[in-house]
Amino acid sequence: MRDVLDRAEIVTLDKRYVWHPYTEMSSYIETTEPLVIVRAKGSRLYDADGRSYLDANSSWWVASLGHGHPRLLQALEDQARELAHCALAGITHPQAAYLAKELVSVAPPGLSHVFYSDNGSTAVEVALKMAVQYFAQNGEPRRHRFLALEGAFHGDTVGVASLGGVEVFRRPFAGILFDCVHVPSPGDASAYEQAFDALSRAIEHGADELAAVVLEPLVQGSSGMRIYDAEYLRHARTLCDRHGILLVLDEVFTGYGRTGTMWASEQAGIVPDFLCMAKGYSGGMFPMAATLTTDRIFEGFLGDKSRAFYYGHTYTGNPLGAAVAREVLRIYRDENIIEGIAPRARKIADTFARMANLPGVASARSLGMIGALDLQDEASGYLAPIGWRVSEEARKRGVYLRPLGNVIYVTPPINIAESELDELLGKVEEAVGVVAGS
Ligand SMILES: *Cc1c(COP(=O)(O)O)cnc(C)c1O
Repeated sequence: MRDVLDRAEIVTLDKRYVWHPYTEMSSYIETTEPLVIVRAKGSRLYDADGRSYLDANSSWWVASLGHGHPRLLQALEDQARELAHCALAGITHPQAAYLAKELVSVAPPGLSHVFYSDNGSTAVEVALKMAVQYFAQNGEPRRHRFLALEGAFHGDTVGVASLGGVEVFRRPFAGILFDCVHVPSPGDASAYEQAFDALSRAIEHGADELAAVVLEPLVQGSSGMRIYDAEYLRHARTLCDRHGILLVLDEVFTGYGRTGTMWASEQAGIVPDFLCMAKGYSGGMFPMAATLTTDRIFEGFLGDKSRAFYYGHTYTGNPLGAAVAREVLRIYRDENIIEGIAPRARKIADTFARMANLPGVASARSLGMIGALDLQDEASGYLAPIGWRVSEEARKRGVYLRPLGNVIYVTPPINIAESELDELLGKVEEAVGVVAGS
């Protein structure tokens, strides 16, 4: 263990060999003193110097039950002793079968078939490919286009990046991404009506070419926690039904209680044709994901062998991930995780409403276990530096917080202890106050 905890050596090796995601490496190497996290428990991260940090972001939005939940550890360990991998192409294993039944029972009604993959990007990629193939072999081959929102984020593979609307992420690949219809985000409150109407026009215009509309329901996460009304989702569902277009809801971030209900789509009272889940799905314990769909789509792939869905990642339906995902669902039930959200969500809402009045804060918002605010700055968007100053102040106070440009947000574990949530929110408020007021 001794060398594992030698902070200086770890940082030297890291800077020499590791190429970090979403990170400009020269400034990282020259100026960043990275946190070196050696373990985590519940809502706290511990660094190599023994300091602890409340995890304001649930470790990139995955650790919805906190870190190291003893029941998830046990499930992973037990399953590892039995069976760690099974190919799933025409053979099966108990965890994949039981998990599929359990996911169908907690999903919105009508989603009755489960396709497994490895991560959020692939969960959406699966839905895109299924939608295109479904129409190709069921008499509507012209339907091969997708509609997505400006500021959308559905992952980083070339396929789902084509749907993406975060400009800095798209730009280098603009020449190879496939063409999508992008419509204005309903998350900009001052232009909500226009966005609502623009969706009708875009769908009517593309009605016979569109395969699917793809949305992050209720909140666009990566583009800055842009929250929008459930009415927009109902509108999208109605328009899709009217024109025979499929609706894909990417609940990779919003699922598992993040917005206050198990699924964000519940709050709109709609059911999509595809529901994509990852992140909270396996509680940060194992990379795994699933795409749920309807009888109608499933049946469109039956018959001749050429009609099969030729797609499947090596770790699809992995037994370790499946065992963990089943235990996640049991914990949600046994520990009344969804019922526990309301009092926590109130604390988040109160704190962010108060911070909206701080000098230097342009606006604030909250929904379920998400609180976000925009800092006033000359630069806005993902590359704005000001958020990192808040992050630095938070870190001094024992909170780990990753900003989205000038947007400061918290997405703590759904089951964070209320006393820890108070501490977290108090420290975030202090950090924002120091930077925004300066
Ligand atoms: C994180 C995220 C993804 C991508 O998930 P990965 O596991 O990083 O591939 C897709 N959609 C949404 C809404 C996300 O937040």
